[in-house]
Amino acid sequence: MAPKEKRLMLLTKFVTENCVLPELGSRNKADVLKELTHVLFERRNLKGVGPALDQIMARETTESTGIGHGIAVPHARVSGLKNLCCAVARSKEGLDFLAVDRNPVHIIFLICYPPTQQTTYLNFIATVSKLLRDEAHLQAMLDAESGEDMFSVLTELSEGLMEPEAEYAKKLEENPGFGTMQDAHADLMLLARLQLCQEMYETARTGKRAIKQRIENIRMLITPRLLKHYDRVMASRAPALVPVEGDTCQGCFMKLPSQYAQIVRQDTDHIHTCKNCSRFIYMV
Ligand SMILES: [Zn+2]
Repeated sequence: MAPKEKRLMLLTKFVTENCVLPELGSRNKADVLKELTHVLFERRNLKGVGPALDQIMARETTESTGIGHGIAVPHARVSGLKNLCCAVARSKEGLDFLAVDRNPVHIIFLICYPPTQQTTYLNFIATVSKLLRDEAHLQAMLDAESGEDMFSVLTELSEGLMEPEAEYAKKLEENPGFGTMQDAHADLMLLARLQLCQEMYETARTGKRAIKQRIENIRMLITPRLLKHYDRVMASRAPALVPVEGDTCQGCFMKLPSQYAQIVRQDTDHIHTCKNCSRFIYMV
């Protein structure tokens, strides 16, 4: 079976503008958590601030929610809430949160969610982490001039992340035109090498710099349009390039329509994508 895929979501669906603080008043972790929890409960008119705060504090003492890259995601499961809700706060100077990477925390997403919305919560966290792992995105949040501005940056960024990969796959299908057979073949090989290097990079303990350089070199050789699609798919549902075995896409485990499988098998002039999951596919 296909592994469950995390869905990216529009973060600002769960945040209201009045719950975005451009600069925290408090300077230490405990005070920050208190300040932010109160902001969320008061401004969203929610009940149960006491138990929520207890839970947030307790969780933080067992394990820091500083997930690295300047982000922290303190959270509590609160019965009686209707929907997941989140307050966002910024500290330009950075806070000591005992984050996993020991770096100071600049943006905090304080999340409260009802017990029935565990999945929504996991998807929310996945989106936050994906979005702000990109240094340019984090910088945009740090550069925003006001809470209002931070809210629009967050909206824009998460909208950009969600732009459906399927649309790109469709464009590729309609207008493949990647030149000669040799080019398609070369691109496919390059994509495979790129993916391999990226996997190596993720797991490598040493030599990361050299792998990164190789990744950059390979990227320069790939047709930009393909690269763009590759990056989009990688960001939401790696791997981006998968084999087809017995007409079944090994990314989403859906069977290709037999007519399409036939085309993929015969038309080696073009690079093909799975119509279901939009990953690049090749026949084995
Ligand atoms: Zn697929």
